[in-house]
Amino acid sequence: MPVGTAGTVKAVPQDVLETLGAEIILGNTYHLYLRPGHELIRRMGGLHRFMSWPRAMLTDSGGFQVFSLSALRKVTDEGVRFRSHLDGSSHFFTPEHSMDVQIALGADIAMAFDECTEYPADRTRAEESLRLTMAWARRSLNHFRAYRDEVVWRDEFGGRTQSLFGIVQGGMYRDLRKQSAEQLMEMDFDGYAVGGLSVGEPRDLTMEMIAEVLPLLPKDKPRYLMGVGYPDEIEQYARMGVDMMDCVLPTRAARHGLLFTSEGRLTIKSKKFAEDQGPPDPQCDCMVCRRYTRAYLRHLMQAGEPLAGTLNSIHNLAYYLGIMRRVRGELQGDAQHAVAPIAP
Ligand SMILES: [Zn+2]
Repeated sequence: MPVGTAGTVKAVPQDVLETLGAEIILGNTYHLYLRPGHELIRRMGGLHRFMSWPRAMLTDSGGFQVFSLSALRKVTDEGVRFRSHLDGSSHFFTPEHSMDVQIALGADIAMAFDECTEYPADRTRAEESLRLTMAWARRSLNHFRAYRDEVVWRDEFGGRTQSLFGIVQGGMYRDLRKQSAEQLMEMDFDGYAVGGLSVGEPRDLTMEMIAEVLPLLPKDKPRYLMGVGYPDEIEQYARMGVDMMDCVLPTRAARHGLLFTSEGRLTIKSKKFAEDQGPPDPQCDCMVCRRYTRAYLRHLMQAGEPLAGTLNSIHNLAYYLGIMRRVRGELQGDAQHAVAPIAP
């Protein structure tokens, strides 16, 4: 899922996302709640209509940004009080409020309100954080079930409404992760996410936690790994059984001039590309690689032209989506022929 933080995948127009084959994008509840406001978006017909995105969409719960961006947070069992990173105004988010905001935004998939346990966290801290996340998951689900029918597009789609995913936390403790997964499955969410990974821990620990949790989660519901990762990682995770991932990396790196290619990472600003007539990635047939040279992309970065961010982002998204398309094809092939065990 390309990340569309504030109702836009930064620098990339919606029709281009469609052409690239993006089937689902992510919106950030925290940002949209602060600006332009979820009630305004509801009045505009929901986020799909507001940003003219007819395909699927997922919103996060707002929790992650509250914990990572805002100032002066105070966490209680009831919720989180925080100050906006935009204007310092004071806000209070509870699981119920996160659901109200996400129902107003009207994405296809909403996420339970959780606390993303930081790394490193000792056992006591991880247990306490998990206790809070599980209580908030229950409250999120209860409130969502009571109000999901209020989503603005419900009548247009024959009474269909949004889905809610629960989030497995538990820090880097295998037994806490297991306990978290089991408790969420008892609550019966529409899908399950694994959160609190890729937060600074070594990669083998990330892998260990994923390998622990994934087999516990039902195979007939989506399994979503939040906030990962580099191109080789997303391929590895998909082969382990992850169905969905999101990451700002392809677009954020692109705006800083970092391109992911079949030849490895390119820092396109580098002087060595100044007169390079080749395409950004010779193996890529995206609209940028078909049309522009490395020399031109390098010039755009050097000159601080906004088109640099756009073209770099389009290529990086094409590269990421291309990996997923290939892996999907291979996994479908494997499933059809029941050969070649899927190695992690
Ligand atoms: Zn390309």
